[in-house]
Amino acid sequence: MIFRQLFEPLSATYTYLLGCEETGQAVLIDPVVPTMDRDLAEIARLGLKLAYTLDTHIHADHITAALELKKKAGSRIASPAIDNLACTDLGIEEGVPFTVGNLRLDPIHTPGHTDGHFAYLLGDRLFTGDALLIDGCGRTDFQNGNADDLFHSVREKLFALPDDTLVYPAHDYHDRRVSTIAQEKKRNPRLGEAIPREEFKTIMAELNLPYPKFIDHAVPGNRQCGVCPANLDQNLRQYCEQMEHSPQG
Ligand code: FE
Repeated sequence: MIFRQLFEPLSATYTYLLGCEETGQAVLIDPVVPTMDRDLAEIARLGLKLAYTLDTHIHADHITAALELKKKAGSRIASPAIDNLACTDLGIEEGVPFTVGNLRLDPIHTPGHTDGHFAYLLGDRLFTGDALLIDGCGRTDFQNGNADDLFHSVREKLFALPDDTLVYPAHDYHDRRVSTIAQEKKRNPRLGEAIPREEFKTIMAELNLPYPKFIDHAVPGNRQCGVCPANLDQNLRQYCEQMEHSPQG
């Protein structure tokens, strides 16, 4: 397998490129608009063809590049079926493997950050989205987030995987790239094994994070698989810069 961990600095998002060496097919997990040309260039450099984009959830902090990549590279859009997006080509369900060439990803429904959130397991690599971050987790206070659900998703489903499983999160704000299930069980200050459910719920209830500045644009845009909103304030333009500067007509 060909594997690249790519970083989008504006939203501190990791986009994962997985390529099948036998068939040349590739998938991008959680691609982001401002870096989609960088991702496509890397795919071309590796001699791969983008077959699919695959999102872990409906993002609130950035615009997915799924739709623009479909237009530009002819890729198909895969996303959780539970979110019922009309723009999706393939709805992902738990228990139904998602295949790209000879790569097989096992989708794991991990609600809590959003109700439709999925993680994806490929061999010993786990793409955790925002359900489990390195020494952290996604917030649970919007998009039908629920701390009880997230506790169950991480502790009962993700922590049931082998200790050596590599944890690749959708974000990191401190330049960390990878963890393991064993490390998160031991060290995660919110969801580590020593922390009881009620303590986790208190931690999440008391985070007092500011309302995300981009959410009111990102969620409707991402429900359309990545449409940049019109009339975006100047200070938010950078989130959609790539589309503005890459007219396709
Ligand atoms: Fe998120």
